[in-house]
Amino acid sequence: MIVFVNGKYLKDNEANINVNDRGYLLADGVYEGFRVYNGKIFKLKEHKQRFQRSLNELKISHTLTDEIETIFEKLFEKNSYKNSDELFYYIQITRGVALRDHAFPKEKTEIGIYAFVSKKDLNEKAYNEGLKVCTAPDNRWARCDIKCISLTANCLAKQNAIDEGFDDALFVHDGVITEATASNVFFVKDNIIYTHAATNRILSGITRNFVIDLCNENGFKLKEFPLTIDKLKSIDEAFLTGTTLEVTPIVKINDISINNQKIGEITKKLQSLFKNYLQENFYK
Ligand code: PLP
Repeated sequence: MIVFVNGKYLKDNEANINVNDRGYLLADGVYEGFRVYNGKIFKLKEHKQRFQRSLNELKISHTLTDEIETIFEKLFEKNSYKNSDELFYYIQITRGVALRDHAFPKEKTEIGIYAFVSKKDLNEKAYNEGLKVCTAPDNRWARCDIKCISLTANCLAKQNAIDEGFDDALFVHDGVITEATASNVFFVKDNIIYTHAATNRILSGITRNFVIDLCNENGFKLKEFPLTIDKLKSIDEAFLTGTTLEVTPIVKINDISINNQKIGEITKKLQSLFKNYLQENFYK
């Protein structure tokens, strides 16, 4: 695979970074993950806005330009991808190279940029049959709204879930469900859709925001209000949203079966509205 590292397009096994890059030493950087349908990036403007915000919040002085599009186009071409490939585009920016110190380097550093484009098909089984998830304490830092490359708590929660026989974990903070390890979560109860508000406790997902738009445009009642863990037993439907998941149903949470482990009607409707949008905007 050809990747992009600090201005160069190289084979991934020939690319390298300086060991003093602050991303490597201190996870001092931010990233974005984009979905590509039919050769075109989904919600590019929204992703770029979020990426710029993450950079600003970490005080990494860099203003994004159309480098995001250019790097993608070059990687697409150099890897000989086809429009029919479903792709995932990853890009991260770190504060750059400096001897290890918690304080930011006094002298201005060159930011470090790494990007790759890989094939990423939707997980059809999960999409059609649903996921089984557990709950886990949300022991991440309090700035989950920043898409920071430091993901240790997310990785641990996901691995613990897998080790316990689940597909993923839902984080619980102060008795409320915030989000999953790499996606946002929605619940349906009595035809009302609930999702955690876009506070510092969650990443404001581009897919989440798009699904909220779909709900509003199609007359679904939606509340940005968190579900407390004690209400889990009474919910009718649940689903995750994310760049690589679109709308993926949840059929079991801990030992609680949701809707007899069948995909709920509202979830199905949102899946089909999502697909219709892709059809209209990417494949016509
Ligand atoms: N929440 C977390 C913690 C994530 O890491 C992600 C995606 O990586 C999301 C939510 C979903 O965001 P998006 O829909 O922009 O992919």
